[in-house]
Amino acid sequence: MTRLVIRGGQVWDPAGDVHAPAVRDVLVEGNRIAAVLPPGDPLTAQWISGTPEIIEAAGRLVMPGFVNAHFHSYDALVKGLLEDMPFDVWALHTQPAYYGKRSRAEIRARVLVGAIECLKNGITTVQDMNSLVPQDEETLDLTLAAFAEVGIRVVFSVALRDVAALDIAPFLAADLPDSVRALVEGTGRDAASDLAFVEAQLARVKLPSTQHWALSPSGPQRCSTELLEGLVDMARRHRLPITTHVLETPAQRAKAQRVYGAHGGSMVRYMAALGLLGPGTTLAHGVWLDEDEIGLIASHGAGLVHNPMSNLKLKNGVAPISRLKAAGVNLALGCDNCSCGDCQNMFQAMKLFCLLAAGSDGNPTGVVATDAIAAATLGGARALGIEAGAVTAGKRADLCLIDLSDIAWLPRNSVARQMVYSESGRGVETVIVDGRVVVRNRKLTTIDEAAFAAELGAVMENFRNDFAQVSRANAAAAPYLLAANRRVTQAKLGIEKYLKA
Ligand SMILES: [Zn+2]
Repeated sequence: MTRLVIRGGQVWDPAGDVHAPAVRDVLVEGNRIAAVLPPGDPLTAQWISGTPEIIEAAGRLVMPGFVNAHFHSYDALVKGLLEDMPFDVWALHTQPAYYGKRSRAEIRARVLVGAIECLKNGITTVQDMNSLVPQDEETLDLTLAAFAEVGIRVVFSVALRDVAALDIAPFLAADLPDSVRALVEGTGRDAASDLAFVEAQLARVKLPSTQHWALSPSGPQRCSTELLEGLVDMARRHRLPITTHVLETPAQRAKAQRVYGAHGGSMVRYMAALGLLGPGTTLAHGVWLDEDEIGLIASHGAGLVHNPMSNLKLKNGVAPISRLKAAGVNLALGCDNCSCGDCQNMFQAMKLFCLLAAGSDGNPTGVVATDAIAAATLGGARALGIEAGAVTAGKRADLCLIDLSDIAWLPRNSVARQMVYSESGRGVETVIVDGRVVVRNRKLTTIDEAAFAAELGAVMENFRNDFAQVSRANAAAAPYLLAANRRVTQAKLGIEKYLKA
């Protein structure tokens, strides 16, 4: 087994001094951390005499690699193309169903764009909740192959939905033209065949040690009971985590109040009744949760992935992070789609995690930098069921080294606070995934970056044309969706999730 010694860095330990972490040597054997030792330990000397690879880490912070617990690779090429639109209008431009089958080169390029940005920002694991259009083995294999090639850890799920129609459909005008109705309704799918497809992939695909399965209903409101129960059963049989979108938008809350009458109008109560709310389940977003639902998530041991960038950019409001923390819910962090957060950067997500909690209350909330770091590391690993997120013996060797000579760290008063409030990602120098160095001196070791930039350029000409065509074709629906959105935001939802200036 290959051996690696990361010598003399300050090693992040949430139970130690978070402002001035101790200097340690980290020994890696194969894909696991073998030991974390104080300088001068005889075991380190013994390893070094055996000529392992040595990374000199003096002046560096050795962090567990960040876990980006919510992401979608399918629309990564849309980065920077959209702004100032609410969720349902954004969806008109980005949903994979509007684009149909894409070229092999484009699928590879979009996976690599997202994954490379993750790695360069110190993210070693990404959860790709992938709508997989078309739902076929070729698209799945191309996607997983690109993740494997770049060397990032991926927890992959096929996002399933068998119920057509946008979440906001109940609030559309009654006199909606048929042409617009056809655009926003989409077509339903068959639960049994969707379940069979995923089950077949679990058996067929031989995953490398950097790849893992998860299961994803796209959202409870987008799935039949048959599909949700089938996924709960599959998760139990294969011991897989479930991650699903829950109460991301005000329209989803308004719709839940209408369709889950038997469960007090609560999507979360409905999930609990189906057995979908448990320790293996993580809810993405949860912006529009009420107190009762926060309590249910906590009492069932489920977790929540906070996605502050996309929540703000898509005008969905602010998730109740300080109350979720107070309830003891396992919190993770995600950067979500490149089409609505425009970056894969956990430093931005961690900063917003703290600042949004601060901006939601005139008094101390108890949400501090170490909470954001925990969500971005161990919380994400726990949510996705992977043995990572900490620099301790036995964990997967997923690490990132940050250069502490960068101006963000000068003067160095607190590693925890400066990581969250000062570092931008610029200091990320070395990234290790599963014991393999995938970024060295800020350069990928797995992919030729210049060649990839050229490949991407070649793909983008066609993609930009298709993006413009989808936007043109769906433009007629936008005014109706904006009117529906105004109806929703003026409706009585019982809670408020916007910061009022
Ligand atoms: Zn999402």
